[in-house]
Amino acid sequence: MDLVTLAPRFPGPGETLLGSRFFTTPGGKGANQAVAAARLGAGVAMVGALGRDAFGDQLHAGLAKEGIDLTHVARLDHEGSGSASITVAEGENEIVVVPAANACVTPAQVEAARETIARADAVLVQLEIPLDAVEATLRLGHKLDVPVILNPAPAQQLPAEWLRLASYLTPNQHELATALGADAETDFRELMRRAPCPVVLTHGGEGAWYRDDAHPQPAHQAGFKVDAADTTGAGDTFNGALAVFLHEGLAQAVRKACAAAALSVTRLGAQGGMPRLHELDAFLA
Ligand code: ATP
Repeated sequence: MDLVTLAPRFPGPGETLLGSRFFTTPGGKGANQAVAAARLGAGVAMVGALGRDAFGDQLHAGLAKEGIDLTHVARLDHEGSGSASITVAEGENEIVVVPAANACVTPAQVEAARETIARADAVLVQLEIPLDAVEATLRLGHKLDVPVILNPAPAQQLPAEWLRLASYLTPNQHELATALGADAETDFRELMRRAPCPVVLTHGGEGAWYRDDAHPQPAHQAGFKVDAADTTGAGDTFNGALAVFLHEGLAQAVRKACAAAALSVTRLGAQGGMPRLHELDAFLA
């Protein structure tokens, strides 16, 4: 759950300030990506964890309303739901994330979802859960021959073997350099060539780049020109859409993911801005 406070400025250490507004809004990369995929018409099942608290109830109900299968979302008595406390002031934000229940997702939970994963057209995983659970997902997808999209966010360096197990890596520029342990100054196209798996790199309003065996040189999909109102969740919308349309081929999936993400930035909120399939179809018509 994102807890957002609007303030005139950031408080100093030990200082109390009066803010102008407070609201909560559902967040978390995994949940956002699941919602993005569900809105675009896919059958989505989520593996994750929530606390048995008020935020957990709200988040659970929100995901269920989107038609997402929550069989493999654990409700924990000993941990609260993951949260992000966000202060927005002077056009900047400060964020403190507490993973809480998200830090309790286990490889055993992933294994328990084996049948669901075996039936899936694609699996999407990010780095907001423990790394052993991410690794279990990569290994299981590989074993079951189900494509796994690894969104390496929040940025961290990844073992080379994981990159070989991933079917697609979907970083932004900073996440790609960090994942490969490379110098941030290195040209991103060079890093895309260096990665041992296909890469789809998001590039903000400029769109996305992709490289796989069929496109050994990084290919560019231009961003769709829109009036951006709020780019929160653009990357999550992109990833959810990529998973949904992957079966249409990479170039087409990247085009549709760019379009879905462009639509999402025209509206406020991460999940609030995510388009439905008929809106995407109309936008692309
Ligand atoms: P975030 O973590 O804020 O979601 P990100 O770095 O993961 O961001 P971006 O590269 O900023 O992801 O955006 C993802 C995709 O969203 C881009 O590849 C692009 O297709 C689309 N997008 C982002 N910003 C814009 C924009 N201003 N106009 C059109 N499309 C955009």
